[in-house]
Amino acid sequence: AVSVTVVPQATGAPEPLYRNARAATDDRVRDLLHRMTPDEKIGQLEQIAVDRLQGNCRGGGGELTESCMKTVLQDCAAGSVLSGGGMGPPVNTPADWARMVNAVQRYAVDHSRLHVPVLYGIDAVHGHNNVLGATVFPHQLGLAAAWDPGLVRDSAAATARAVAATGIDWDFAPVADLARDRRWGRYYETYGEDPLLAGTLAAASVQGIQGARGVKRIAATVKHFGGYSIPGNGHDRVPADISLRTLHDTLLPPYRTAVEAGARTVMVNSGAVNGVPATASRYLLTTVLRQQWGFTGVTVSDWQDVRALRDQYKVAADYPHAAALALGAGVDMAMEPYEAREFGDALRTAVQNGLISRARLDEAAGRVLRLKFELGLFEHPFVDASRANIEVLGTGREPARRAAAASQVLLRNEQGVLPFGPAVRKIVVAGPYADDIDDQAGGWTIGWQRVPAGVKLPGTTVLRGIEEAAPAGTQVVYAADDADAVAQARTADATVVVVGERAGAEGGADSPRPELSANQQALVKSLRQSGRPVVVVVIAGRPLTLGDADGTEGLLMSWLPGTEGGHAVADVLFGRVNPAGRLPVSWPRRNGNDPLYYQQLPGTNAGAESAHDVAYDFGAGLSYTRFAFDGIGADAAAVPAGAPVRVNVTVSNTGAREGDLVVPVYVSRPVSDVLAPPRRLAAFTKVHLRAGVRATVRLVVPARALAVTPGDIDGSGTPRVERGAYVFTAGGRAVTVDVT
Ligand code: BGC
Repeated sequence: AVSVTVVPQATGAPEPLYRNARAATDDRVRDLLHRMTPDEKIGQLEQIAVDRLQGNCRGGGGELTESCMKTVLQDCAAGSVLSGGGMGPPVNTPADWARMVNAVQRYAVDHSRLHVPVLYGIDAVHGHNNVLGATVFPHQLGLAAAWDPGLVRDSAAATARAVAATGIDWDFAPVADLARDRRWGRYYETYGEDPLLAGTLAAASVQGIQGARGVKRIAATVKHFGGYSIPGNGHDRVPADISLRTLHDTLLPPYRTAVEAGARTVMVNSGAVNGVPATASRYLLTTVLRQQWGFTGVTVSDWQDVRALRDQYKVAADYPHAAALALGAGVDMAMEPYEAREFGDALRTAVQNGLISRARLDEAAGRVLRLKFELGLFEHPFVDASRANIEVLGTGREPARRAAAASQVLLRNEQGVLPFGPAVRKIVVAGPYADDIDDQAGGWTIGWQRVPAGVKLPGTTVLRGIEEAAPAGTQVVYAADDADAVAQARTADATVVVVGERAGAEGGADSPRPELSANQQALVKSLRQSGRPVVVVVIAGRPLTLGDADGTEGLLMSWLPGTEGGHAVADVLFGRVNPAGRLPVSWPRRNGNDPLYYQQLPGTNAGAESAHDVAYDFGAGLSYTRFAFDGIGADAAAVPAGAPVRVNVTVSNTGAREGDLVVPVYVSRPVSDVLAPPRRLAAFTKVHLRAGVRATVRLVVPARALAVTPGDIDGSGTPRVERGAYVFTAGGRAVTVDVT
């Protein structure tokens, strides 16, 4: 694809150093900063919503308006524009997006005094999900079920190529928060409950987004740093109380892994941790992120979170103090989408009154400018809009279908109900989510909460997928009406009932009782009374307590599989794909057991009402073949503390067909100084095994996977590796290694 280079008109004066693409980036940043007024530097720290540039400049969309662009991009010299959930051009094709972004960029380049392009950001969190006709990938939690960093990388790269083709430079993905509380509406946006799995996949996503060979480079965002995912009462953006140990041993590692994968930006948690809003937390944003982890990129606050320091959290008396708190803590750019002038004024006052030093202003603006140089924005601010439709429409379908298929987790398969064979001549398809593309795509699709009413999302529902995949001679009967479904089921060879939950986003997806609705449970119960096999397919962003719907012959967790999801589900039901997904979260048997995750500390399970009463464990998932774990070994019986541990696991496919097997290695300590979970994931891989084949796979356990914060929390909260025996297990086999 072509990208169009436009350089401002030559003036006859010698070209300034910052415009010289061959000059060192540091020198370009310094040169440009030197030429900027304080107000222009302040502008670089502002991120404004695109709907402030449209219509009457007050939000609500419409065409870009010259006078609105003047206010934001020229008068306030804002350095960044974002399309928050669902904001876009009035006509939602990729080409329209590219034209709109080009026009914003054109205005910024032409009308800012020094011709500085803007960074344009968007939430492309499962494909280029705001753009109609773009392929919608499974949401993160589904992808996590594939336990496959390569798949995450490929999906992220496909997304990034689509994003870049519409001129956008910055993707607010991945989420490195952990899924620890099903009530929380953003549970499905995570890579699951385990720090190692989530960190590995978040890092793969960063690599996929930033390494994509598309028409331009784009930046990834590790969000929402840190500790966003365990709000006190399960509702989004509620303060969290987190011990230093939990923070450092459990919650922070995934962000760290993703940051170390080279993420260029980090988005700050909207919530407060231990009494300090993350946006004002110098500890998180400077001590941990910059000093301990060495992050050198840009931090951006989340939606309206600087003013929240004044309005919501009440830790600042006025806007200048709020701005000073955020900048002082380490926020570089403020996502204050509707406050271009007000935020600029606040920052100016704060600088004038000495609340923010000029050096800090230069540092923050310098980081933003550096990112723009690194992305090549000064050389290539525009894209070729005439290519956007070709680059985006219908592309990525195959990878998305593969990703969705790999994310399917088969949890029950009794009496060999699956895969459907030639004996299955009549299949009844029932349930409220059988023919529902919008809920299958999930939140953050075209609209912020969900696909807006009136928009027809192209894609394949589970019903259509089954109809297309059914062999000739197999009758597929869709029974939209529950009573009809029950009647039809009596004469069916199998019934597929697709249940789930309504899509939503952020607080709109919070659920105090994450369970299958009573009428869906009743439907499944009546279908079971038909005496014929029933396969339950769940379309949901979290494990739903199943109640009466549990215990059917088949149970398939499909997550939020996106526009290709119907094909993927059918691929598994008919056996074209041998399911290999494994739960990246624990599935509780009943409500009231939350928060529930497998890394419970010793003592948690005491009592009759077990706090860890799972229906399906973390890592659970069936295959159409049989696998055996034959042994585990270690390269050395003893390793020095701080060194990686090399283990090997022998597995075999003892069944009749080829398949993929996730090989997780867990670590535990017979005795430890502080409470340690009975097992922690220490390494994992995935192997493909033909029927009858045995293989030995090698895994490296990084020292970090063994580390815990020491017994006496010394305030620094730095995990370290205790000396002593460590037991590594895989599929019930164990080997002990001494750390000396
Ligand atoms: C969300 C972020 C998102 C941002 C921009 C916020 O409400 O918390 O995840 O990136 O909006 O749309």
